Amino acid sequence: MQEALIGLELTSPTPRLDAEVLVMHACKFDRSDLITHNEMALNGEQQQQLDKLLNRRKHGEPVAYLTGAREFWSMELNVTPATLIPRTETELLVEKALEPIQRDATWTIADLGTGSGAIALALAKERPRCRVIATDISTAALDIAKTNAKILGLTHVEFRTGDWFAAVAGETLDIIVSNPPYVRADDVHLQQVDVRFEPAIALVSGNDGLDAIRHLAENAQKFLRPNGWLMFEHGWDQAGVIDELLQRLGYRDIVSHRDLAGHIRVTACHR
Ligand code: GLN
Repeated sequence: MQEALIGLELTSPTPRLDAEVLVMHACKFDRSDLITHNEMALNGEQQQQLDKLLNRRKHGEPVAYLTGAREFWSMELNVTPATLIPRTETELLVEKALEPIQRDATWTIADLGTGSGAIALALAKERPRCRVIATDISTAALDIAKTNAKILGLTHVEFRTGDWFAAVAGETLDIIVSNPPYVRADDVHLQQVDVRFEPAIALVSGNDGLDAIRHLAENAQKFLRPNGWLMFEHGWDQAGVIDELLQRLGYRDIVSHRDLAGHIRVTACHR
């Protein structure tokens, strides 16, 4: 393990955890194997596989792309470079979206820009009688989301390719949720090693980062039933502008929510 750590410190804020996860992946170990095999030498094939992974990690490739998986809402999700890597913060959006939906509700839910399917699948898991529509403009992303749904046995999710509302034409929705791209095109954070590997289309949204959010806000009312909900994630410094935008468009009961780090990351409102 000590050996595996060398070099990771330079690029990763979590070198030990990364090394453990990559050793487990390369050697097909589980956590208990990792402890008992700690002093044991790896066989040639394991070592070769591990070296390859460590090398890619040292160049900044996110661990989730190296292992092809990330946990979200206690579900193991497949991820590829076609999808954003689900973030823990996004579980806040799932939590808030679940609040108005009764356990046995039969609502129609749309997750626009679903990526790996994280939000749609979490909602489908928690609300088995709802109909969930998961959309994405990227067929490669949607293929991953479909695979995830299949593995998790979530059969009440429909997948549709299309740009935002084009994928839900003709639908009347009870709630629209989204983790749209919201990073400003010139944000220095996009140069960070890990983020560079993620799809720009899932991260960046115009000069002020608000193009996708404006599009969602300006069009959602046409697809929501009266009193239907719009809820989405946004950047920590965007709540003020978003509140003004939603007010101007006539949304009601606009509320923003803080994540565990204290950042306002989710805004919800009613048609
Ligand atoms: N939270 C992500 C990041 O900081 C951005 C996700 C998004 O744009 N939806 O990289």
